[in-house]
Amino acid sequence: MLPYLKKTEEQISAYLAGVNVDMVKSSLRKERRDFQDLLNLISPAAKQTVEQMRPIAAAYRKMHFGKTVRLYTPLYISNKCINSCAYCDFNVKSRTPRKTLTLDEIIEEAKAIKALGIDSLLLVAGEDPKSMPVEFLEQVVKEMKKYFSYLSIEIFPLDTAGYKRLFDAGVDGLTLYQETYNQKLYKELHPSGPKSDYMSRIDAISRGGKAGIRTLGIGFLLGLYDWRMESASLAAHAIWLRKHFWKSKIQFSFPRLTPISTGFQAIAPVSEENLEQMMLAFRIVFPEMDMTISTRESADFRNKIVMTCAGNISAASKVTPGGYANTEEEDVGQFMLTDIRSVEEIKNDLKGKGLETVSKYWDRCI
Ligand code: SF4
Repeated sequence: MLPYLKKTEEQISAYLAGVNVDMVKSSLRKERRDFQDLLNLISPAAKQTVEQMRPIAAAYRKMHFGKTVRLYTPLYISNKCINSCAYCDFNVKSRTPRKTLTLDEIIEEAKAIKALGIDSLLLVAGEDPKSMPVEFLEQVVKEMKKYFSYLSIEIFPLDTAGYKRLFDAGVDGLTLYQETYNQKLYKELHPSGPKSDYMSRIDAISRGGKAGIRTLGIGFLLGLYDWRMESASLAAHAIWLRKHFWKSKIQFSFPRLTPISTGFQAIAPVSEENLEQMMLAFRIVFPEMDMTISTRESADFRNKIVMTCAGNISAASKVTPGGYANTEEEDVGQFMLTDIRSVEEIKNDLKGKGLETVSKYWDRCI
């Protein structure tokens, strides 16, 4: 469990097993909810109340985010990595061809993404500080800000000074998944490399908060461990971050494991039904917090979940460095994508549901 959460897994497990439908309904009737309500809504008993959870979540989603959906696209700038994450095709032992884009190549990618009608970018890189020093990242961020109004990063952890440099250069958001909050499993899945240090990873998002980064994105990789236990830790993590970095916005992501070339299989598979229950629970308990759903999920699921929960979705994703400018290249990246619709197709689908896609939704000068 998350170390900040002063409860054992046995205590959480026993509590979840004891939740009944009346307790779930009582949580749903409240105006303000807390950690215990989150446990009630993710409990096995709450499976029977998903129908009732949907309109409540949808009302909160509308109250805080209106009819808008924000689109972003990830730009992979390097797939070199010195870590050994068992579930990732970029891990140091994988035979995936490696590439770190030059600044010029990154600019070409940016232009290709911009031409798709995207104004929000997520920069992604594996952990290889030698080929990706902070100075280089700072340069990249400054260049990307010429093309995109909103810029977030999903890269290896930095110290507070490093995050501050990137924040000053124009970074608005930081995403850093804990992958699993279970410390024993974390050690098994991350046997070597800097990422094997669980506490350093937990601490990294706080360093981003200290640096003033406006959006702090957290999550776990769905499929590694029991999703209810992970959800309890994720909720506690969000509560802790909200208390300590109240000037920043918390953003939840729910990345579900998809196949990778090594054949790594989900240890604790999460079904679409589980995923929906989890997202509804988080939307209802944390109504003001942001929520993302990526192209790991199907078009049908994403079309459904934007109505009740998610306000931020990725579009036209490529998971290979250089994949946008060089469309001839096969997209053999970090994981398999499920929703391969174009930006236009996504916009049309959302329009058909009465939703409006927005590209620019944040300006630092305001
Ligand atoms: S998940 Fe990230 S840190 Fe781990 S191997 Fe993949 S790119 Fe490297």
